[in-house]
Amino acid sequence: MAFKAFVIEKGEGGTVAALKDFDEADLIDGDVTVRVEYSTVNYKDGLAVTGKAPVVRRFPMIAGIDFAGTVENSTHPDWKAGDKVVLNGWGTGETHLGAYAQKSRVKGDWLVRLPGAMTARDAMAIGTAGYTAMLAVMALERHGLTPQSGPIAVTGAAGGVGSVAIAILAKLGFTVHAVTGRSQEADYLKGLGAAEIVKREELAGTPKPLAKERWAGAIDSVGSATLANLLSMTRYGGAVAACGLAGGMDLPGSVAPFILRGVCLYGIDSVMAPLARRREAWKRLEKDLDRQKLAAMTTEITLEQVPEAAKRIISGQVRGRIVVKIG
Ligand code: NDP
Repeated sequence: MAFKAFVIEKGEGGTVAALKDFDEADLIDGDVTVRVEYSTVNYKDGLAVTGKAPVVRRFPMIAGIDFAGTVENSTHPDWKAGDKVVLNGWGTGETHLGAYAQKSRVKGDWLVRLPGAMTARDAMAIGTAGYTAMLAVMALERHGLTPQSGPIAVTGAAGGVGSVAIAILAKLGFTVHAVTGRSQEADYLKGLGAAEIVKREELAGTPKPLAKERWAGAIDSVGSATLANLLSMTRYGGAVAACGLAGGMDLPGSVAPFILRGVCLYGIDSVMAPLARRREAWKRLEKDLDRQKLAAMTTEITLEQVPEAAKRIISGQVRGRIVVKIG
């Protein structure tokens, strides 16, 4: 049986992405088949669909790194038809056929049960960006940061990871400083819970080994000079959770913040994160993310609109989160 899927193929001089009919018999083996209801456009999806970075490592590939939906059939002991599930990463949309399709066949070990108070649409409004923001908040908490520690900076603030991170931190009582290149989004960011707006340029110059101490902690989705500047501005004993590279993959800083201020840098990976941590993150998202704020940061598109959204996210023009209706 065929279904609609957004397929990336190798073309002359690059990759070609198009909506096609895909035969169920061509799905990769797995022990759970899911009827996909929603997916989303994350930064990595933007890279895959535009072909801007070699995210896709198998052709043809169905794009899309995450989905929420309902189990159609399963031979995995944990799952049965009708179960509501969410999947993030594990190579989906990179090495395993992905989420921009009406059906996906995956390993049951990759799935997390959709939290009871969440719809499939909520889960993908959160998406991998939001689940990664939660992993970053959890890393800062494990470090010992509390609202009393001092303000937390969030870079790439108006993007997906940034928007969800601000909403979660604000709900937990932290004072959040939103670092953005889009001053026109100040009201949006304050609506999510940011106490102050910081201009992106303040973190864009050549990083000093140590700068004036500003933040107890930070969540960074930008990388490069922004991350190096954040580290140099982190207060004694503070921590930065680094999860992204929207501004670049390099890290042009010094070890001074680590050895003179005891600052810690935590790496956040959502793709291969162990199941226990994923379950914890989704449980926390159910409780610690204000659903009205999630709605305020979310726009919905169809599969046909994915290519245009992919271009916009790569050029830093998407505000908040984009959910893709598949069903
Ligand atoms: P978005 O595009 O939604 O957000 C990125 C934001 O970064 C933009 O909105 C913009 O925010 C800022 N930005 C963009 N370009 C630049 C630039 N050149 N210099 C400085 N700031 C810039 O993407 P996502 O939130 O979905 O993802 C953010 C990052 O996190 C990506 O690099 C992504 O690959 C990574 N990521 C990593 C994961 C992991 O497992 N480690 C999982 C999910 C995402 P503003 O306009 O407010 O300045």
